[in-house]
Amino acid sequence: MKPRLFTPGPTPVPEETLLELAKPVTYHRAAEAKAILAEVSEDLKYVFQTAQPVYTLTCSGTGGMEATVCNALAPGEKAILCTAGRWGERWRGILKAFGAQIVTVEAPYGKAVTPDVLHAALAAHPDTAAVFATLSETSTGVGHDLEAFGKIVANTPALLAVDGISGLGAMECRTDAWGLDLVVTGSQKALMMPPGLAFVSASAKAWAKIDATPIRSFYFDLRRYRKSLLESDTPFTPANTLIKAQRASLKRVRAEGIENLWARHARVARACRAGVGAMGLTVFAERPNSALTVITVPAGVDGSATLKALEKKYGYKLADGQDTLKGHIWRLSHMGYTDAFDVLGALAALELVLIESGFKLDAGAGVAAFQKAYAAGA
Ligand SMILES: *Cc1c(COP(=O)(O)O)cnc(C)c1O
Repeated sequence: MKPRLFTPGPTPVPEETLLELAKPVTYHRAAEAKAILAEVSEDLKYVFQTAQPVYTLTCSGTGGMEATVCNALAPGEKAILCTAGRWGERWRGILKAFGAQIVTVEAPYGKAVTPDVLHAALAAHPDTAAVFATLSETSTGVGHDLEAFGKIVANTPALLAVDGISGLGAMECRTDAWGLDLVVTGSQKALMMPPGLAFVSASAKAWAKIDATPIRSFYFDLRRYRKSLLESDTPFTPANTLIKAQRASLKRVRAEGIENLWARHARVARACRAGVGAMGLTVFAERPNSALTVITVPAGVDGSATLKALEKKYGYKLADGQDTLKGHIWRLSHMGYTDAFDVLGALAALELVLIESGFKLDAGAGVAAFQKAYAAGA
């Protein structure tokens, strides 16, 4: 059976990128390696929509998140944490580990933190050093209005740090224009790569703060990465095979054009939500993002068993909910190298599995609604 990956990380990898991964390993200090890193760094600036350098770190996305916290915050400094799910909680874990004083602005799972509550929290805590937020909350499918967050934080001395893992490259995100000071993403979500690389951008405002903050990490000291990147190099041995492969996936983004890519994800996401609705199911996220669709498991259906059947019978691998949401939601990614017809197949398979389990549904209802919405969204 053909395995079909629809988890919100990792995501499918294009063929030309896979071929890069099959090539012999090369020396990471060679001129060719530096040229490749230079090219990747330029393409990342395009993906991030920033004029600032973007740093490539050999670690998963969480390492990039940790790098922002340990570089930009001194112990005991105040951080406003905007959290609406498990990945907001990941920020909390890192902030705790580095001794931040945390003020939490929380939305229940499935809902988004609104700009109003962030505004009120910043007004109540004018000594805030940084605000931590999530672009796409991958655990619930919610998207946050980072453009509005950026406008609010820009009027204060605080930095805005954004977990863009899964969001960046799947939904509109304009790092410079929106005033996002620190943005992090990972290779294995919308950037069409295996896991292993994290990318971090820092604004001039962020650099001023970092330069005034005592460093608390050796490996994640961003000042080392800044210095090395001036020579198109990295401070430590990078996963240069992955960087080379990332170049191939980023060429795809360049060829499509970032705005076309955002529009394509938005169109597929809208069509997917229409399909889900026509199947008699509901979308879990109140403010859904374009990276993935999160479906509420209907009453009387065993959520986890449905996902097992989907994989075993038809090869479709969707993701279950995490922690308290396990068994209660299904998460279907449409990031990166996943197109409209891939998603149509997943909906068709989900229809079949639901019908086989006794759920009342007309075969093709979701598929037809997807196609109609997709056609209308041209
Ligand atoms: C996947 C994900 C993470 C975790 O990234 P790792 O690469 O697993 O460390 C963090 N935040 C969001 C929003 C994610 O989707």
